[in-house]
Amino acid sequence: MEIKRLEDKFGRPLQDLRISVTDRCNFRCSYCMPREIFGKDYVFMPKDQLLNFEEIERIARIFVQLGVKKIRLTGGEPLLRRDLPELIGKLNAIDGLEDIGLTTNAVLLGKMAKDLKAAGLKRVNVSLDALNDEVFHSINDTAVPTKVVLKGIDKAIEAGLGVKVNMVVKKGMNDQEIVPMAKYFKDKGITLRYIEFMDVGQSNGWDFSQVITKKEIHNELSKYFELSPVDPDYLGEVAKRYNYAGTKSEVGFITSVSESFCSTCTRARLSADGKFFTCLFAVEGLDLKEIIRSSVTDKELTEAIVPTWEKRTDRYSDERTEETVKNRKKIEMSYIGG
Ligand code: SAM
Ligand code: SF4
Ligand code: SF4
Repeated sequence: MEIKRLEDKFGRPLQDLRISVTDRCNFRCSYCMPREIFGKDYVFMPKDQLLNFEEIERIARIFVQLGVKKIRLTGGEPLLRRDLPELIGKLNAIDGLEDIGLTTNAVLLGKMAKDLKAAGLKRVNVSLDALNDEVFHSINDTAVPTKVVLKGIDKAIEAGLGVKVNMVVKKGMNDQEIVPMAKYFKDKGITLRYIEFMDVGQSNGWDFSQVITKKEIHNELSKYFELSPVDPDYLGEVAKRYNYAGTKSEVGFITSVSESFCSTCTRARLSADGKFFTCLFAVEGLDLKEIIRSSVTDKELTEAIVPTWEKRTDRYSDERTEETVKNRKKIEMSYIGG
C-alpha cells in the first residue's frame, strides 16, 4: 500500500486520528456535559446521522493511506455502542495501522474488556477524576461508585490491555484527590496523567482561574514523591512524563493550557456524524459523511481530505487569550470527540 505523507502549513504530519463513535454519554461530567445543558430535552444526533461501521472503516482506511498510524476511539462514551468490538475488528484489519486505543469512563469496561481485546484493541485510557465516591458523584452527576471504574480497570488489565488513567483537575472540584490518586495508581503500576481543565465547548463556564497547572500539581506531588523527568518517546507525544524514583511507575501531565503543544500536534478528529476537524477547537469541519453518501470513489474522497490537512494552520492553545476564550464559538467535546 502506498502511503502519501501529508503535512500541514507548519510541517506537521497527519499521524493520529480520533474517531468519535457517539455524542451520547452515561455520565454528565460538569466540565464536559453539564446536566443543565445536556438534560432530558437535549437533542442528540439521530441514529441515521451517525456513521455506520462500514463508513468509519472506509474513511479510516483513507486516513491510514495518508499517514495515520494510530486511531483512538472516543465520544461521548464510546462503549455505549455495544457492538464496538465489531468496529475494532474492521479497523484492526487495515494494512499500515499500528495502534488502536480507546478512551472511556470505564462504566461498561468490565463487561466488554475481553471482547475488545479479542477484536484487536491494544490500549485503553480510563478517565477517572477521583477515588472518593462523593467527589466522583459531584463531578459526573450519577450514582455510579468508583469501584465500578476500578473493577473495569482490573478487568482490562486481566484481558491484556494496556491501561492509563486520565484525571481532569479543576480548582475546587477535585484538588484534594491529586495525591490519593497518585498513591493508588503508583502502587498499582498504572500511569496516571493529570489533564489541565480546558476551555472546550460553550457550556463548562471555563476561566483561567479554575485551572490547576502542571507546575502546581508537580509541586504538590513533590512533597510526597521523588520525580524525575522521562524523555518523550516520539514526536507529538502529548504527556510530559515523570518516573517515581526507584520504581517503574510513571506519572504524566497534559498541559494543554500552561505549556501548549500545538507545534507538534499531529491529530485529526472525525465526529460521530462524519465531520473531519483539524483541531479540538476548530469551528468548522469537512462533512465526509455527505461526501461518502454521495457515491464518490476512494480517489475523490482522498482528494477532499488532502487539501483540508494541507491548509491547516490551527494552533488554538498556543494563541489562547482571554479574548479567544470569550469570543471563539467552540464545539462541545462530547461532539467533536475528546
Ligand atoms: N467519555 C469518555 C471519557 O470520559 O473517557 C471519552 C470522551 S471524553 C470527552 C475524553 C476525555 O476528555 C476525558 O478524559 C475527559 O476527562 C476529557 N475532557 C472532557 N472535557 C474536558 C475539559 N473541559 N478539559 C479537559 N479535559 C476534558
Ligand atoms: Fe461523558 Fe467523558 Fe464527557 Fe464525562 S468526559 S461527560 S464521561 S464524554
Ligand atoms: Fe492540536 Fe488544536 Fe490542541 Fe493545538 S489546540 S494541540 S492544534 S488540537
